[in-house]
Amino acid sequence: MNISLVLINWYCKFKRNLPWRNTSNPYFIWLSEVILQQTRVDQGFQYYQRFVERFPKVQDLAEAEEVEVLRLWQGLGYYSRARNLHATAKIISLHYKGLFPANFDQLLQLPGIGEYTAAAIASHAFALPYAVVDGNVYRFLSRLYGVEEAIDSGKGKKYFKSLALELLDQKNPGEHNQAMMEFGALQCKPRNPDCNSCPFQGVCRAFADHKIDVLPVKNGKTKIRVRFFNYLILRDCDGRIILKKRIEKDIWQNLYDFPLLESKDKISEEELIDSIKTNLLLATSKFTLSKVFPDQIHILSHQKIHLRFVLLEVKKINLLNGFVRYSMEEIDKLPLPRPIEKMMDSF
Ligand code: SF4
Repeated sequence: MNISLVLINWYCKFKRNLPWRNTSNPYFIWLSEVILQQTRVDQGFQYYQRFVERFPKVQDLAEAEEVEVLRLWQGLGYYSRARNLHATAKIISLHYKGLFPANFDQLLQLPGIGEYTAAAIASHAFALPYAVVDGNVYRFLSRLYGVEEAIDSGKGKKYFKSLALELLDQKNPGEHNQAMMEFGALQCKPRNPDCNSCPFQGVCRAFADHKIDVLPVKNGKTKIRVRFFNYLILRDCDGRIILKKRIEKDIWQNLYDFPLLESKDKISEEELIDSIKTNLLLATSKFTLSKVFPDQIHILSHQKIHLRFVLLEVKKINLLNGFVRYSMEEIDKLPLPRPIEKMMDSF
């Protein structure tokens, strides 16, 4: 069976009509690939539209302020993607005259572009023979050929990469890659793949060996770091809120949040409120407790964050260490981590 041919026939019949599929513009392809990493297509679609509308050309993105790019990205998570997006747009605009290089190795040098994204741009925009291997491709290939090599091991990655390259339609690499990913996303799904209508059923190893539920094999679970973020929401007499830009190399870098006390364990409200007295920011201030919010948990891919918020009305504040008072209108334009954004909507 010619796998690629069958795959492309299936793709022509069943593919979703998505805007980045009907273009060979490397800027739009790159944008969609970066947005869609770790993101569902329906959610990513809205962000893609927003970015294309606001930044129709890579130069528009390059010239934007980072704060606007992050604000537009707000809610997608993995903010390093947005920072890298902006950095790459600047490089393309300044050093490549606004044109993406039609060269895999040069693409790989750009911030945030790894092998997967470079292969996607190279094959889709420039018809270069590079195979993409994302989660959908791993799943489909491991089942089709009954590969038990772990997809998160060095050996496994190498194996799947060469298998994908072997199958690649050299004359039509862009469409072939799109078809592989779409097949994994729509037909050979993680749970309950649609084997009954699958054109590969007769040659599928996992189907024959009843191994669909165990393939692909994954080695280890990611270690989750547990953190405790205790936030002081400080509101002044004019209704302005105190925020600070998170400049440290940590989650939510360059986004804005409230004064934070991070603790190793859960602390009481009293401890949190008391921390104001030892915090340089408010050592001389007068305040009253306005509200204690129910505790929350925010899950990221590698972190579990226990969140606590108290709202305090402050009469006098000495602003130090990068803290700034912002009106609600100003906050509307700032990029905020999702829990902070939600909290802002709740009072
Ligand atoms: Fe995937 Fe089932 Fe088709 Fe095998 S038969 S490729 S498991 S959908």
